Amino acid sequence: MTTIEADAHTRVLAIGAHPDDVEFGCGATLAKWSRAGAHVELLVLTDGSKGTWDAGHDLAALVATRHDEQRAAAHALGARAVHFLDAVDGELESDAARREEVCAVIRAARPDVVLGHDPWKQYRLHPDHRHAGVLTVDGIVAARDPHYFPHAGVPHRPTRLLLFEAQVVDHVEAVDGIDVESKIDALLCHRSQWRSTMGIDTGSPDADDQLAAFGRRIRDEVASDHGEAFKLITDL
Ligand SMILES: [Zn+2]
Repeated sequence: MTTIEADAHTRVLAIGAHPDDVEFGCGATLAKWSRAGAHVELLVLTDGSKGTWDAGHDLAALVATRHDEQRAAAHALGARAVHFLDAVDGELESDAARREEVCAVIRAARPDVVLGHDPWKQYRLHPDHRHAGVLTVDGIVAARDPHYFPHAGVPHRPTRLLLFEAQVVDHVEAVDGIDVESKIDALLCHRSQWRSTMGIDTGSPDADDQLAAFGRRIRDEVASDHGEAFKLITDL
């Protein structure tokens, strides 16, 4: 199992359903490739508007906050750009209209490597993660052929697809400690998700311990996988 060599000529697009999914799924790998000079872009499909436990939350303000958090996280990973499609959180569909939008971003970003959710992950409940995986795969198929969505840019064929949350892992990207710390830094940029997703309650007297525990959790996950784990598809 060899890792993918990235340098200043390498272009990368990582596609996530929600703000923070890309960081969880492949943040250390993106940080590593950014450090090697690769051009990394992110695509976030939904607006993150379900990302609160507070029923009275101002959702327009939450979406704006989550955009800002995602841009900060992208910066922490060394990514050069973030694209937002802003589908309503929880209501993402892998329909033709959305596929054309993903196809257009792939054609504009012209990635060699695409990363996204595994659409074939068994027993996963969240519909946005399923649809995001389907859109990633179907978007690649559409992007490479001129007769799909001819008004959505110049056709482009990536060479590798890495699926995170993989049902079948057959590829591990080894990462350095500095890349794991960048992943944690990027995840912690999503401060609106600290309590609901990361188990960090800033109102609690144990907040510092919870923050440290979250960092340990991420370091332990990467250590036990010997890096970040994926399904690799090269027949694109
Ligand atoms: Zn998600």
